[in-house]
Amino acid sequence: MKKNTDKTISFSLFAQFPKLICFMTTRLSGNFNLHEPSILQKSLPELIAHYSINKDKFASIEQVHGNHIDEVNVDNFEPRFSQSDGLVCSTKGIFLGVNIADCIPVFFYEPQAYIWAIAHAGWRGTQSQIVSRVVTKISQMGGSSRNLHVVLGPHIGACCYVVSDARAQTFLRTFDNNKLITYKIQDKWRIDLAYATAYELRKLGVPKNQTQIFKGCTSCQDNDFFSFRREQKNLAGEMLGVIGTKL
Ligand SMILES: [Zn+2]
Repeated sequence: MKKNTDKTISFSLFAQFPKLICFMTTRLSGNFNLHEPSILQKSLPELIAHYSINKDKFASIEQVHGNHIDEVNVDNFEPRFSQSDGLVCSTKGIFLGVNIADCIPVFFYEPQAYIWAIAHAGWRGTQSQIVSRVVTKISQMGGSSRNLHVVLGPHIGACCYVVSDARAQTFLRTFDNNKLITYKIQDKWRIDLAYATAYELRKLGVPKNQTQIFKGCTSCQDNDFFSFRREQKNLAGEMLGVIGTKL
């Protein structure tokens, strides 16, 4: 994790791609929940202007905890895709945004085919394998999973992600009974959402050394991150992840 002076973080896996811009806000950046009009009108334009991103080419997703994804291009561009939990793009200048407060922000970049994508992967998205849908879409657009570079940004760790017996059993069924994904500590079921996503990426053919998992936990690191599980109704804000390429 690299902390920038503007209190966002960036990811070392993507440092090799000078044209790529990918960052996430933190608690120190303030609230970036895009449902709030004041953020859309002030904080968001200021943030993206800092990265020389055109505000008329910034697309975000409503995040309905489903597994529907959209391709974004000049013909269908919308500032917010209302039924979507993932966006895929290969149009220069269009940037993609995802809100997070425990779920995994997944950032994809295919440098050969010049395609980038985001996904919002909470337990439902992970269980319904939204990442597979994004990788399939990237393949349909001419990309290859062998060339994909994928970052799993800040999310709730298995340290804090205690789940019900029913949810644990669902994950065990979905992920080949993998005990590194779903396991018990002190008699409580836990799910490692990032490991589940990484496991899925491996099966899709994304090389391990082209996958980076953010080390840390949004729930434990309360100075750095907002966390839905920790804060519940008192949730003070959400983080925003952004990816796109320079012209
Ligand atoms: Zn934790």
